[in-house]
Amino acid sequence: MRATLIYGAGDVRVEDVPDPKIQQPTDAVVRVLRACVCGSDLWPYGSRPATEKGDRIGHEFLGVVEDVGAEVSGLKGGDLVVAPFVWADNTCDFCAEGLHTSCRHGGQWARNGVDGGQGEAVRVPQAQGTLVTLPVAEDSALLPSLLTLSDVFCTGHHGAVASRVRPGRSVTVIGDGAVGLSAVLAAKRLGAERIILMGRHTDRTDLGRDFGATDVVSERGEEGIERVRELTRGDGTHAVVECVGTRQSLETSLGVVRDGGVVSRLGVSQYTEVPMGFDTLMRNITLTGGAAPARAYIEELLPDILDGRIEPGRVFDRTVGLEQVPDGYRAMAEREALKVFIRP
Ligand SMILES: [Zn+2]
Repeated sequence: MRATLIYGAGDVRVEDVPDPKIQQPTDAVVRVLRACVCGSDLWPYGSRPATEKGDRIGHEFLGVVEDVGAEVSGLKGGDLVVAPFVWADNTCDFCAEGLHTSCRHGGQWARNGVDGGQGEAVRVPQAQGTLVTLPVAEDSALLPSLLTLSDVFCTGHHGAVASRVRPGRSVTVIGDGAVGLSAVLAAKRLGAERIILMGRHTDRTDLGRDFGATDVVSERGEEGIERVRELTRGDGTHAVVECVGTRQSLETSLGVVRDGGVVSRLGVSQYTEVPMGFDTLMRNITLTGGAAPARAYIEELLPDILDGRIEPGRVFDRTVGLEQVPDGYRAMAEREALKVFIRP
């Protein structure tokens, strides 16, 4: 079969790889119907050292079950399923606490001999705990939005939940990438009253307004902080969802959060030190967030997509076939595309 491999910065190739087979009785094999490129894939695309041997890549996919191992129940050939961006048993103590990203028997796609999602098929470890059945047909118009349950919409939702967004709260979302826009949609869904989106790309912030942003701030740094404070009587917002990952965006977060508020980090952090001195202690600022346990949220978010109440799949603005995936990476890296949808 064909699958995507990354060989180094700017070097993504689609090549022949061995067909996936059941290796453990807890495995399933899924034929990939839809996949996508994640903003986090752009970090290795930007900086991975060149190697002779490529690594599989991709962690967002939905597809059709082709084969299941002897110990897998609740799944059968032909089922349409979505896979969260980490695989997990859904039974250990961490999973029971809703922290599937720390599963004792789980792991990441495209690591340690596990397939990546940007290919024709995937061997899914811990299939019974990992996969969630979707009650739609293979040609459903909902597939783009359902695919966002794999990562991007669940990640936005996690940022909103972790920053304690609830009815009546104000929130600032920093970053107008697909995760930022998803966080706006999630905050709106959870009842936030005021949603300030910080971003500079008008086509993206326009989608953010459609998703529920009440204000857009295009300024950055000190200017951006001042602007958000002007909009909030000088106080800042109760919640901040940081969707960029740079030290500057973290500093902006601490600048726009209201005293007693919560900053939730979703961006893949490109810093190792956090500027939380005595001033943030006096202000009772909470810093939280992290990788989203998508598996814990899928059942809660799925009905809103099936009913058409939310359409998170609008973040996809370009579709490619599997052979065009390298061009999809290029388009996302050059900010030509917001998020690339793959139809193998
Ligand atoms: Zn677990």
